[in-house]
Amino acid sequence: MPTTSRLFVVLFGAQGSGKGTQARLLQDRYGIPQIATGDLFRHNLKNKTELGQLAQSYMDRGELVPDDVTNAMVKARLERDDTARGAIFDGYPRNTAQARALSEILAEQGGEVGRAIYIDVSHDALMDRLTGRRVCRNCQATYHMIFNPPQSAGVCDRCGGPLYQRDDDKDTDAIDRRLQLYFDETLPVIDWYRSEGLLAEVDGDQEIARVQTEIVEKLS
Ligand code: ADP
Ligand code: ADP
Ligand code: ZN
Repeated sequence: MPTTSRLFVVLFGAQGSGKGTQARLLQDRYGIPQIATGDLFRHNLKNKTELGQLAQSYMDRGELVPDDVTNAMVKARLERDDTARGAIFDGYPRNTAQARALSEILAEQGGEVGRAIYIDVSHDALMDRLTGRRVCRNCQATYHMIFNPPQSAGVCDRCGGPLYQRDDDKDTDAIDRRLQLYFDETLPVIDWYRSEGLLAEVDGDQEIARVQTEIVEKLS
């Protein structure tokens, strides 16, 4: 990896591959924030901002929000002080235009992507993971009804907030659309990072702690 004191990591994987789960663990380990574009959009939606209203129809359909909107949101997020030592990108970039935009945004700040990690999970496992997913309304931590249940049903272990099921995780048609989009749009981004020599792959069909260990090995 480039010898920089700032660590910018991109996590890739289909919806349900465990990006959010792993990003949270990396955030705790390295003390750098997770930047999840889906969480940022949902936050804007909840607060009824202009950006949220713009994003809503795309999110409801399981489609990508336009690149200019998404890139501007990421750029603004990177201007906050907590990214001084780096960040973990989860759910961004999702197409090669966003990947180029991220390189430019980071270059303006004297940074660069140090490693792109692809979490590879078999297709069959993804639907089970998504339909059983529950998210903390307060801190966005993710759980799974069977694979990663909270200690107390319906309550976040980290902050005590209430857990809920995302609307787009209830609708198997929307899930199919998101997975199709992922394979159409995001796989070329993985090839792009591979050609840049930045890609590392991990086997995401293992238990959560084991996947984390593999990622940390690839980052060291
Ligand atoms: P993504 O951010 O890639 O969409 P999440 O981190 O939200 O994925 O994980 C999707 C669901 O799968 C969640 O319910 C999570 O608790 C569960 N999960 C994550 N990693 C694993 C794993 N290695 N094994 C089993 N279930 C997992
Ligand atoms: P999932 O990983 O299950 O698709 P996310 O939480 O990452 O869920 O994203 C939810 C929605 O937010 C997406 O369906 C899409 O509409 C929008 N979104 C998230 N990240 C991006 C991105 N990088 N570019 C465009 N739209 C995005
Ligand atoms: Zn919480």
